[in-house]
Amino acid sequence: MYIIEAYVTNAALAVDKPFSYYYDEEIALYTRIKVNFNNRSNVALVVGCKEVEKEKEEIEAELGFKLLKVQEVIDTKPIINQELFDMASWLAKTTLSPLISCINVMLPKYLKTDLNDDKPKLLEYLNKNDISNLNLTSKQLEIYNSLNDDMLASEARKLSTSIFNALKEKGAISLYKKESSYQSESLIIKDDQFLTLNSQQENVYKHILESEKEIFYLYGITGSGKTEVYLHLARDFLKKGKQVLILVPEIALTPQMIERVKQRFNSLAFYHSQLSNQERYEQYKRVLNGEISIVVGTRSSIFLPFSDLGLIIVDEEHDSSYKQDNTPCYDAKKVAMYRSNHNKAKLVLASATPSLDAYTRALKGEYELCTLEKRVNDCLPEVKLINLDQEVRKGSDYIYSDPLKEALSERFNKHEQAIILLNRRGYAPIVKCNKCGSTLMCKDCDLTLTYHKDENSLKCHQCGRNYVLPETCPNCKNKSLTTYGYGTKRAQEELIKLFPEVRICRMDYDSTRKKGAYEKILNDFGNNKYDVLLGTQMIAKGLDFPNATLVAILNADSALMHLDYNASKLAFDLLMQAAGRSGRSEKKGEVLIQTYNPNHYVMQAVLNQDYKYFYNKEMHYRSEANYPPYSHFVSLIISDENEKRALDSLNTLLSLCKNLSFNSYRPLKLNRLNNRYRYRILFKDKSLAKMVNDLWALINEYLANNKNSSLKVDVDPLYLE
Ligand code: ADP
Ligand code: ZN
Repeated sequence: MYIIEAYVTNAALAVDKPFSYYYDEEIALYTRIKVNFNNRSNVALVVGCKEVEKEKEEIEAELGFKLLKVQEVIDTKPIINQELFDMASWLAKTTLSPLISCINVMLPKYLKTDLNDDKPKLLEYLNKNDISNLNLTSKQLEIYNSLNDDMLASEARKLSTSIFNALKEKGAISLYKKESSYQSESLIIKDDQFLTLNSQQENVYKHILESEKEIFYLYGITGSGKTEVYLHLARDFLKKGKQVLILVPEIALTPQMIERVKQRFNSLAFYHSQLSNQERYEQYKRVLNGEISIVVGTRSSIFLPFSDLGLIIVDEEHDSSYKQDNTPCYDAKKVAMYRSNHNKAKLVLASATPSLDAYTRALKGEYELCTLEKRVNDCLPEVKLINLDQEVRKGSDYIYSDPLKEALSERFNKHEQAIILLNRRGYAPIVKCNKCGSTLMCKDCDLTLTYHKDENSLKCHQCGRNYVLPETCPNCKNKSLTTYGYGTKRAQEELIKLFPEVRICRMDYDSTRKKGAYEKILNDFGNNKYDVLLGTQMIAKGLDFPNATLVAILNADSALMHLDYNASKLAFDLLMQAAGRSGRSEKKGEVLIQTYNPNHYVMQAVLNQDYKYFYNKEMHYRSEANYPPYSHFVSLIISDENEKRALDSLNTLLSLCKNLSFNSYRPLKLNRLNNRYRYRILFKDKSLAKMVNDLWALINEYLANNKNSSLKVDVDPLYLE
């Protein structure tokens, strides 16, 4: 008999430990099984299996409880390796999340332990049978002879469906189903496709290869050729037989980027959220089977089961998409640190607008700092601030000011392209009653509704709920409602009015929902089928269009409006990234920023394209307020559909906080979201380890007594919604 230890799915943090079962046969570690838990059949992950000589009753007497038998073994092979399991345990401790949630976050849907009916696709294959006793026609025999064992049935059918059916009928072939298997291709590196590095790239590249250090910070302005350095580094590690992972932010994995990597390597995988469950599953298995040498992927690819990782690159390291916003709220960058450390792999963090934390560590020498100071074309775009306050007073329009209109028409005359950023989708973000002044709000969230003109509807951009545009004010029944402000749709309309003959494409969440729409817009813009690409922050990152020589930012202040501790940094990043799209090739670029706050240090830093100026200013404010990176936050958010229950839970939690040795802010009521009332308690301290350690105990105690409201724990939150 074997004693099996297994983590059960859906177990809360309070019961986050393995439970014991028994089975007659050995079960491989890290495979899934079905067990009875709390009188329900539940999937569990095996983490221990030990043969015992004693009788079951004897063991039960020792344990003090009855052992249940494993109901079913699901996998024949482990679904994660030892490294991943250890990493999940570390992740659980550092993100204050249940271990099983950390294991599941690593896995593609079909391998998760919260199994549902979705299963990987099975394909039909054939085997040839003995035909000595069969009576086949010559045509049938001919086809039969051209078949092979383990051939895809669909391939054989292509030869002739009727003969295929006849062969099946007569028993000449039999069919079976299994998961698709790949012919693994061997790695080919296309050396002739690599650009020759310029001297500053060469220096950085050599330095990273030759240095003894493990963690590097590559600070390189936009267009300085960082991507080319990554690809050269990747080549070296691949040639040494090592695996390579290049992490990119979600929206930076553009068709252009994919093309650039494909040109140079095969035996390569792209892993991102646009893949279907089947595709993600297949890519995961290929990595698990060692069939893939290089992956370019978004956040969750940091969990792929590599066996011999030599190099991890985190492109645009500052990007917020590396942080997951639901449990477990992990940070892919920290996971990358863990993995590179445990694999003795080199880690390169890179950005044109480094995160304050990473850049500070680089300055201190904790990471080796490498710099690309110049653009490949040695030509920075010229940035100009347009003071909207002054312009509007002079009679300019506030969406397209006079100087912006001039600059646009100049580009159009020269047949060059413009990129226009407006970080707000829809037609107008506010709809108000003219009489009582009330603003239309989402019923489930405390947020204003955005008017979408195409559908003549109102949408909540938080929960996605759709409303028919009411004919009268819901509050006072008055008949006239007015829209305020503008989103991408309205900006597009206004631009058409100004330049009727100009070809405009719009890129935002609404215009890219159809599969392939995103690629099509970018391709068409790249092929000069449009003069203007107008869009939300989707267009600010990663794009490289040689003919785009003007970047305009319509409402640059919107990003600064947030009261969040991190708002200035996020605004700076967005503006710098957007500015970086201009003039990337031979033609000189220009950037126009419309702002009501031209003297704000964020605007001044962008004007001079001076990260260090921004860094020093921002660090000064952070230090005054003792905000990260001078300290760490941990945020606990309680949410519940029932307001009273949410408050009760908050009070329970608060009573447990009394004995903590570090600061907590006064609890804050947050916006209601998705019909849930929310309260946040925020903790702050210099020592993250101490906070996490003490909060672990506190959260467990809380969860042991409180099962109603849900609790979201976020260690080092990027913003405090
Ligand atoms: P970054 O990633 O720093 O924004 P990229 O790697 O995208 O910069 O490079 C910017 C542009 O310069 C791209 O169009 C790229 O093809 C080109 N480029 C990069 N390195 C070289 C090089 N060594 N020689 C010629 N062109 C290069
Ligand atoms: Zn809503």
